[in-house]
Amino acid sequence: MDVKILIIGGGPAGLAAAISAYDKGERDILILEREDRLGGILNQCIHNGFGLHTFNEELTGPEYAARFIDEVKKRNIKYLLNTTVIRLDENKKVVALNETGVLEINAKAIILACGCRERPRGAINIAGARCSGIYSAGTAQKLVNIDGYMPGKEVVILGSGDIGLIMARRMTFEGAKVKAVLELMPYSSGLNRNIAQCLNDFNIPLMLSTTVVEILGEDRVEGVVIAKVDEKLRPIMETKETIKCDTLLLSVGLLPENELARNANIDISRITRGANVDDMLMTSIPGIFECGNVLHVHDLVDFVSLEAKKAGENAVKYVNSNDNNKYDKTIIETSGGVRYVVPEMIVKNNDLDPISLKLRVSNVFKNVYLEVMADDSVIYSKKKQVLTPGEMQSIDLKPEDVKKLREAKNIKVYLR
Ligand SMILES: Cc1cc2nc3c(=O)[nH]c(=O)nc-3n(C[C@H](O)[C@H](O)[C@H](O)COP(=O)(O)OP(=O)(O)OC[C@H]3O[C@@H](n4cnc5c(N)ncnc54)[C@H](O)[C@@H]3O)c2cc1C
Repeated sequence: MDVKILIIGGGPAGLAAAISAYDKGERDILILEREDRLGGILNQCIHNGFGLHTFNEELTGPEYAARFIDEVKKRNIKYLLNTTVIRLDENKKVVALNETGVLEINAKAIILACGCRERPRGAINIAGARCSGIYSAGTAQKLVNIDGYMPGKEVVILGSGDIGLIMARRMTFEGAKVKAVLELMPYSSGLNRNIAQCLNDFNIPLMLSTTVVEILGEDRVEGVVIAKVDEKLRPIMETKETIKCDTLLLSVGLLPENELARNANIDISRITRGANVDDMLMTSIPGIFECGNVLHVHDLVDFVSLEAKKAGENAVKYVNSNDNNKYDKTIIETSGGVRYVVPEMIVKNNDLDPISLKLRVSNVFKNVYLEVMADDSVIYSKKKQVLTPGEMQSIDLKPEDVKKLREAKNIKVYLR
């Protein structure tokens, strides 16, 4: 089949992109979703804390998703569930599978909104048998919140990102004893509000600069051996101690789900693991866009929805234009503690709509200025009391700054 705008992934990013493309006048839109319902990862996030920026309300994940699903349905935007995209090529031809068989779809523009997945145990090399009782935190969340199973009774969580923190509280609510949350780094990568509401409120200890060096047990986890780490993150074996537990939850990072992009030879960033995109959120293949967690891991869904709205609008601009986006682009350099910035490139065109740069820093910084320089002039400077790698930062540039950005030959984002 032929379609103007094809969206891969029916999570919050795919839904928001579809709605904005429709609202910009495009009617030939199709969403493909591999699960049996729309909503993405939000369906298993039954805690509240979603939508504060977008709706000024604290919604649960399913409630937030429902608002967007309703809008998609109101507009009669087409979607196919239980449909997995298995291939994408540079000519924007897509192969997908569902119970009717193999679908081949030619699209004028494609928006990749496939989300991310969790790093597994294999990625962190912990010694011990392959016993049961080891789960990624997201799998445990699905088991508890959707399937109605308890993964265990005495739990240690490795990784203090938001999923690890949320699961510490969730397991406690369900009657488990969460003995500790361990974090390799000297700081948590989770949001401060989650540390307060998910750990401190339940007296769950957060052990920083600490990791698991061995998992004990043959058939089922019986305990974990933990140790402090030095400044090079190497375990200090003299500090070893054992915590008895029957379950280890791993919350050790998320990786953008970029196999489709990689197989289509789209340029992938070594830092974000998402595609390198310009400020239209267009990848290295004209007409293929990325947004949401497949582009870079976001901490708040509100920012996912805003980014995806832009991807939807730009996909419509692309399908309606004949210039094929042949503009030059300036790469944004990062330095002085800025780990990455998205988008990575600014297009040299005349569009003066506001631009929002998203970034993360590489360490904890106090009392620094976050700045953007376009050629020789500083076009943005903001004092920040504390910056942590766990909190994504936004730099919102007004039209007059966007003009300078688009004209600049050198663009830099840095901390001073
Ligand atoms: C445990 C947890 C707690 C969170 N807590 C909060 C919070 O309190 N507040 C907040 O604002 N945010 C929170 N978030 C973040 C928020 O859920 C995400 O930012 C958001 O869901 C990302 O949206 P997305 O559409 O990019 O990805 P997803 O929601 O992951 O959606 C991607 C969709 O693409 C589909 N897909 C992938 N590959 C294919 C394929 N090949 N073919 C077809 N379909 C495909 C997937 O099935 C999925 O439905 C939390 C996330 C997690 C995991």
